[in-house]
Amino acid sequence: MATIGLIGGMSWESTAVYYRLLNEGVRARAGGLHSADVLLHSLDFAPIAEMQAEGDWAAAGVALADSARRLERAGAACLLLCTNTMHKVADQIIAATKLPFLHLADVTARAIRGTPSRRPLLLATRFTMEQAFYRDRLKAFGVEALVPQPEERDEVHRIIYEELCRGRVEAASKERYLAVVERAIRDEGADGVILGCTEIGLLVSQADFAVPVFDTTALHAAAALDYVAEVKSVAA
Ligand code: GLU
Repeated sequence: MATIGLIGGMSWESTAVYYRLLNEGVRARAGGLHSADVLLHSLDFAPIAEMQAEGDWAAAGVALADSARRLERAGAACLLLCTNTMHKVADQIIAATKLPFLHLADVTARAIRGTPSRRPLLLATRFTMEQAFYRDRLKAFGVEALVPQPEERDEVHRIIYEELCRGRVEAASKERYLAVVERAIRDEGADGVILGCTEIGLLVSQADFAVPVFDTTALHAAAALDYVAEVKSVAA
């Protein structure tokens, strides 16, 4: 099996979910004692989060490009960057190695295209909701992502960094997220929800909504397993 390379730790709460989903996916597909062939480089999130807050994306890109090179040297066959936000520096990471990079926004957009949803609400960090790098990438696939109102964005962002990335899953925060989505459906015609931050699936899921939910963590893990299966079938 080709080795899946994970650039993780941002935060480790969601990287742990990737690890579980990849292994569950291999068990479901191959059965028995089969498990995922994974190389994980888990970074210390605190300095990366500081670079984000300071807008020093170039320095963050250097750190993640270095991580990609280390995974390539270690034998990874493809790369997954286990955070939506840091896809802001995807180009630096892609340029650092020869490995296929499974871009999270592309994976998400393809999943959305497979459903009737074309105006999903993007729940994510403020960086991902407000800057162009992610929404433009979705737009290239014909997906026009809506974002919450400014004060709602502040709350969605705060809950990610102050709670979910620290392992806290609070009922009041779940209610807050549900209210943000309900308002967007009612007032703006949102017809889906993108869990566009890899920790949000810890708080809400498809079971909470009548509209389709696109959980980027689950979609990314499934795309990695599809990729590995495809490499194997080509080699066979
Ligand atoms: N894991 C998150 C994401 O998917 C947020 C943490 C980060 O900024 O990397 O965007």
